[in-house]
Amino acid sequence: MAWYCSAVSNDALIDALLRADLLRTPAVVAAMRRVDRGWFLPEYTPADAYRDCPQPIGFGATISAPHMHAIMMEILAPFVLQRSPSTTLLRVLDVGSGTGYLTAVLAELCAAEDGGRSVDWQVHGIEHVPQLVTRSMDILGAHYPEWVERGQVKVVEGDGRDPVAVLGGEAEKVGQFDVIHVGAAAPAIPPALLQLLRSNGCLVVPVGEQGGSQRLLKCEKDSVGKVTVREDCGVQFVPLTSLQRQLR
Ligand code: SAH
Repeated sequence: MAWYCSAVSNDALIDALLRADLLRTPAVVAAMRRVDRGWFLPEYTPADAYRDCPQPIGFGATISAPHMHAIMMEILAPFVLQRSPSTTLLRVLDVGSGTGYLTAVLAELCAAEDGGRSVDWQVHGIEHVPQLVTRSMDILGAHYPEWVERGQVKVVEGDGRDPVAVLGGEAEKVGQFDVIHVGAAAPAIPPALLQLLRSNGCLVVPVGEQGGSQRLLKCEKDSVGKVTVREDCGVQFVPLTSLQRQLR
C-alpha cells in the first residue's frame, strides 16, 4: 500500500495525513502535532524527515513511515482514551521502540485531557539495540524531562519477545498493559505479549515473514480474557528477531 503524505514540516505532514483520512481522532492529531518527527531524525534534512516512507536509523532498523504511525495510533487510540472507571494506572508498552517517536506520541495521548477522565499513566519502550536505547532516551529526556525523570516515560534495553525478563517484577503478573504496540514483524502473535495484555486492552502487531507478506493484526482481550484477532492492512516491517540476526 502506498501513501503520499510527504511534507517538509511536521504540521504540513499532519495536515497531509488528515487530508488522506488516515488521521481522524482529534486527540491523536493533537498528539502527533506536539511530537515533531524531526526531533527523532536529527541527521535528516526536513525534506527527508517528513517524507512519507520508512527511513533507516542504523543497526538494521528503520523509523516507520508517517502513514504507518497514523494507522497504528488510530487503532490504539480508543484503548488509550477509554479510561474505564477501574483504570487507576494506564500502562502502555512499545516493543521495538527504535527512535522513540511513537513512544512519545503514545505518551502525549496518555496525557491528553480530552481523553475524558485523566489518570496516572506510564509508557515504556523495549528496544534491543543499546545505541538506540541511549539515543531515544536522550531525545525523550530533552523534550520531556519531567516524564523521563519520573520514569513515566522510559525505554528499557532488552529482547521484546521476552518482556518478563526485560521488565522483571513489573511484568510477572498476567495482564499488566492496557495497550501494547509492536513495531517489528513477528512470525506469529507473541504469546508472552498477549499474556501481558489486560482485559479490555489491545495488542497491535505486524505478523509475517521478512520481505514477504505481512499483516497488521489487532488483538483485543475482553473482560473475561477472551482474545479476538482482526486483520488490518498489509504492511512491511523489519523483523522482531535477535540482535545478532538483525546486525548480521
Ligand atoms: N516504532 C519504531 C520502529 C522501529 S523499527 C519507530 O518508528 O521508530 C523496529 C525496531 O524493533 C528496531 O529498532 C529494532 O532494533 C527493534 N527490534 C527488533 N527485534 C527486537 C527485539 N527482539 N526486541 C527489542 N527490539 C527489537
